[in-house]
Amino acid sequence: MLIHNATILTMNDRWEIQENSAIYVEGDLIRDMGQSGELLQKYKEPAPLDARGRVVMPGFINAHMHLYSTFARGIALKDTPPVTFNEILERLWWRLDKALDNDAVRMSAFIPLIQAIRCGTTSLIDHHASPRAITGSLDIIAELFESIGLRGALCYEVSDRDGAKAATAGITENVRFLERCTRERPSFLRGMFGLHASFTLSDGTLAQCLEAAAPYGAGFHVHCAEAISDVEHARAHFGKGVVERFATAGILGHNTIAAHCVHVTEKEIGILGETKTNVVHNPRSNMNNAVGCAPALKMMRAGVRVGLGTDGMSACMTDELKTALLLHKHESRDPRAGWTECPEMLFRTNPKIASEIFGANIGVIEAGAKADLIILDYFPPTPMTPQNLAGHILFGLADAPVMTTIVGGKILMKDCILTEIDEEEVSRRACEVAKEVWKRF
Ligand SMILES: [Zn+2]
Repeated sequence: MLIHNATILTMNDRWEIQENSAIYVEGDLIRDMGQSGELLQKYKEPAPLDARGRVVMPGFINAHMHLYSTFARGIALKDTPPVTFNEILERLWWRLDKALDNDAVRMSAFIPLIQAIRCGTTSLIDHHASPRAITGSLDIIAELFESIGLRGALCYEVSDRDGAKAATAGITENVRFLERCTRERPSFLRGMFGLHASFTLSDGTLAQCLEAAAPYGAGFHVHCAEAISDVEHARAHFGKGVVERFATAGILGHNTIAAHCVHVTEKEIGILGETKTNVVHNPRSNMNNAVGCAPALKMMRAGVRVGLGTDGMSACMTDELKTALLLHKHESRDPRAGWTECPEMLFRTNPKIASEIFGANIGVIEAGAKADLIILDYFPPTPMTPQNLAGHILFGLADAPVMTTIVGGKILMKDCILTEIDEEEVSRRACEVAKEVWKRF
């Protein structure tokens, strides 16, 4: 595939912009780049894809997602609305995930994956829970990723909240899927080891998870100090903060994702940096649950790797990026805050996290990188340079429609039309399944 007549945002170390340029894709990799005219001469077959001067950039990466959250949309909660974070979990999420059967796991994931194609998110790191349909649930989601053609790192959320049997089943599901990924080496899929959060995990269960994950060298994907109640629980029961507890248990490290880290001490920020743990910031979810603002910029200044996720709010990373910037300006009462840090989360750290997980060069346009590319309907109305690119992204590109989405060299959407999915039909089927889920809920 030759994409020509493009304004390429490489998102490389220099944030290089290449005008009137072309990208030659062979298999699932970017093989060559250069001036449009030159590459049109060099590669005559097949028919080139004309970007018509539009922006081509790497597909976005969502570093913390819950695909199963779809059926919460418009759900009715009885009585008064939940107030505390634990009430939100107990009265909404832990009832919703128990209402999921295999059909619901599949259809609830299908919808946000379609949205991901539409908004240019090409890799998703998911955290799944369906306590009444644990065994094989990751295969159902994996099958969707493979048939649609998106990259996914999957895990099952181990928790003691539903008793020992469910915790064991969760561990087994993670192991089963990690085993499968080790055996089959699917190019679009990877496994991680999912853990819910400190306050629903006993020391015994944590130890079992550590032992089970070890043979696969799998990183953990865990919620960490999301609400102050998680910290209070850890201090009351284990005599330390959540990060300290996880560090002692041995689950932090360069391949672990600690989502949120809203309530962390200076000492714990130090631990996150020393262990090279990936913190994933989810500003929209934190604002939605009113749990506080994570000290993301402070963590970055202390050398912690901080990426960006949506925590199931949607699949859209540009919405998350804009929110991150506004939140940190607002929180710090400083209009200068976040300008470099927020784009760095999405365009530096997320590619690092994904590249490590998938063992490939992801999130950059250069020869040898995976051909995960999006074409945006954006023609800069002011000069666009590497120095002011953040301004264009936050106030222009973020609102520009994604026209075309390509993952691993395969076109999933062209000129806003999904190439292989009947979105209307999928939504109609999802709605039928949602009615049954809501009855059980
Ligand atoms: Zn989450």
